[in-house]
Amino acid sequence: MAWDFETDPEFEAQLQWMRDFIDSELIPLEPIFRELSREEWAPVKAYLQGQVKERGLWGAFLDPKLGGPGFGQLKLALMSEIIGRCMMSMTIFGVQAPDSGNMELLAHGATDEQKERWLWPNLRGEISSAFALTEPFLAGSDPTVIGTTATRDGDEWVIEGHKWFITNASVADITLVVAETNPEGRPHKHASILIVPAGTPGMEVVRDIGTMAHPDVVEGRPGNHAELRFRDCRVPLDHMIGAAGDGFVLAQQRLGGGRIHHAMRWLGQAQRSLDIMCERAVSRSSHGSLLAQHQMVQDYVALSHTEIQAARLLTFQTAWKMDKYGASPVCAELGMIKAHVSKVVLAVLDRTIQVCGALGYSSDLPVEEWYRGTRFGPIGDGPDELHKSVLARTILKGYTPVEGWPTEHIPSRRPAAEEKWRALQAAAAGTT
Ligand SMILES: Cc1cc2nc3c(=O)[nH]c(=O)nc-3n(C[C@H](O)[C@H](O)[C@H](O)COP(=O)(O)OP(=O)(O)OC[C@H]3O[C@@H](n4cnc5c(N)ncnc54)[C@H](O)[C@@H]3O)c2cc1C
Repeated sequence: MAWDFETDPEFEAQLQWMRDFIDSELIPLEPIFRELSREEWAPVKAYLQGQVKERGLWGAFLDPKLGGPGFGQLKLALMSEIIGRCMMSMTIFGVQAPDSGNMELLAHGATDEQKERWLWPNLRGEISSAFALTEPFLAGSDPTVIGTTATRDGDEWVIEGHKWFITNASVADITLVVAETNPEGRPHKHASILIVPAGTPGMEVVRDIGTMAHPDVVEGRPGNHAELRFRDCRVPLDHMIGAAGDGFVLAQQRLGGGRIHHAMRWLGQAQRSLDIMCERAVSRSSHGSLLAQHQMVQDYVALSHTEIQAARLLTFQTAWKMDKYGASPVCAELGMIKAHVSKVVLAVLDRTIQVCGALGYSSDLPVEEWYRGTRFGPIGDGPDELHKSVLARTILKGYTPVEGWPTEHIPSRRPAAEEKWRALQAAAAGTT
């Protein structure tokens, strides 16, 4: 029976290397990381990335069947849990969002020529990418309605529109823009994806938007979220990924994987947060006992541990299903994972802040920053309400309505039960 919760020893050795590498090379940098300039960081980043590449662990989000160096979703989940412990690890291991999702999209929809031009350089870390779907004046949770348009003019597509919250767009080399090309194909065959290289006339980076994670936003830093305007922005016809009208389906490919990848990393952040909570609980006393001896604090610890373990199993099982059956059959589960784990990690972060008291609320500990940074979880990549609604509708499809009493109505079942009993009694009498 193939039902196994163990990691094979060879891969476990890779995971252990990752833990050691992140603990010894990356986490120690955290207190000064924000002060480093991009120029100072670049050579050190390349040096650290080199070690990950040498170890064969770079860019593992992209499955080999899509031409990537990955190991499948379950192994990626195990890796991501470790990567999630430290924010900068994503870049060092080449699994940084939104590049990872964009590369998945290109792997699914781009021609060989387009892959040579944009996918493989992105995978090697030579260029970076952004993905522009959300708009300020239309609900981002409903991608069937898009205000940005692309119309064909000779051998060019002309983009007009307004996007916002586009992660990394102010620093990315290319932006994958979702625009309506086929209004007659609404709701699902109306949009297309076009590559707009940085500096293309007509694409204006209006600003980087201040957020909970970065209220005092420093313009032009990776990790920012930009507002973009497109006015008579022209790109050649070969900058379209897939055919006109394929955009919605391609975007779903991208978003599906992205949802579980976020969840995988949140598990690592949640566990590190719980470690902080527990260390504090066994170190500080109030009212004559350690915090760890107060039952309500014990409840926080036990609940957090239980929630993390349950979320891990749910995430790993869905990753395993993706490896076995592909992403499409588990589409609703990918949303379920995102909605569930985003709540778990925020709850654990919140309890950690509570147990650490004023210290937890302060920026002397990393937890308040993680909380602010992770609060996007229930909103980004489609709000959790939507994912829960999709999940519920998927579940409900498996049920048929009944007339009258419910199937489980006990009085209605009684005659059949009595008949069954008589038959079993007769059968038993015959054999004794
Ligand atoms: C940190 C961050 C990074 C992001 N990066 C990108 C990016 O790189 N590219 C990009 O294109 N977008 C990006 N986004 C945008 C993100 O995808 C959208 O915020 C998200 O899809 C929700 O859209 P909205 O913000 O327009 O909210 P709306 O669609 O206006 O929804 C607002 C709220 O309404 C409720 N709601 C909406 N629909 C339903 C429903 N069907 N059922 C029940 N309740 C509902 C939910 O509570 C939801 O939170 C990013 C967002 C954040 C916060």
